[in-house]
Amino acid sequence: MSRIEWNRYPDRAATEMRAAIGSLHGVGPENIFAANGSNEVLQTLLLTYAGAGRKVATFEPTYQLHGHIARLTGATVVEGERRADFTIDPAEVERVIAEHRPDVTFVCSPNNPTGVVEPESTVRAVVDMAPGLVVVDEAYAQFADWSALSLLDEDRPMVVVRTFSKTWSMAAARLGYVVAPTWVVSELEKVILPYHLDTAKQIAGRLAVGYVDDMNARVQHIVSERERIAAAMAQMPVQQWRSGANFILFRPLNTSGRAVWQGLLDRSVLIRDCSGWPRLADCVRVTVGTKEENDVFLNALQEVLVS
Ligand SMILES: *Cc1c(COP(=O)(O)O)cnc(C)c1O
Repeated sequence: MSRIEWNRYPDRAATEMRAAIGSLHGVGPENIFAANGSNEVLQTLLLTYAGAGRKVATFEPTYQLHGHIARLTGATVVEGERRADFTIDPAEVERVIAEHRPDVTFVCSPNNPTGVVEPESTVRAVVDMAPGLVVVDEAYAQFADWSALSLLDEDRPMVVVRTFSKTWSMAAARLGYVVAPTWVVSELEKVILPYHLDTAKQIAGRLAVGYVDDMNARVQHIVSERERIAAAMAQMPVQQWRSGANFILFRPLNTSGRAVWQGLLDRSVLIRDCSGWPRLADCVRVTVGTKEENDVFLNALQEVLVS
């Protein structure tokens, strides 16, 4: 950092950082577009491929910023419904696409806020049906057992969005990217503001890639703790959704979600109350913590559910 020439503009194309990120996925810098957090990546994708007079499809419940940013660009958002198990139903995708012909179709896998991972067959089906660009948001990808990166192809209008905010523990750096066909990257570069990636961030991104083994070790630990929590909760009166992320969404069977949230809070455990969100009645969400934190959570949950 002390060798940064602060009077100079950064490398506008951020080529070295994009090459470093591309090396994580076996692609070159021409397949990577990076921005200030994946939210800015999503915004750039939507400014490029959505906008006024265009339509964007989401399958609810999902990450709220997909619809929100799409509307900010002037696009109309069309919402499909998920199945009760929160997976995407290809028949519903077919219905939404036939009715609306969306310019952009979102898939979020693992899905925020449910943690559910879409099977490869579903992502393939969406790509085959969608008339426009398919954006697969994989903010939690490393916690899951497969990635849509394996479907990327120069001739397929599909992109995969990733972030350094979650698995890399680098939310403060504001760095996200999309792995995409070269013709998509070229279009995004026309839309983004010049010099949007500062020099310090470009260096941070290049350095971070060198710590991929540390990231994977952290992820592995969290995944094993997630499975331990899921197994313990399977013995309790709750409905839970199989998670491929670092959190578990669940719904108590004999009390309200709000009561569980409050009962845990009374025992100094703070989880997320999703019960007021559309389609998530009585749902709450626990984020996987340290082993000790997870034990405190499980003991407190047991108490709350039996009392
Ligand atoms: C956290 C999150 C993002 C945004 O991440 P940033 O890179 O910090 O902007 C995008 N999509 C999903 C699904 C997320 O959960």
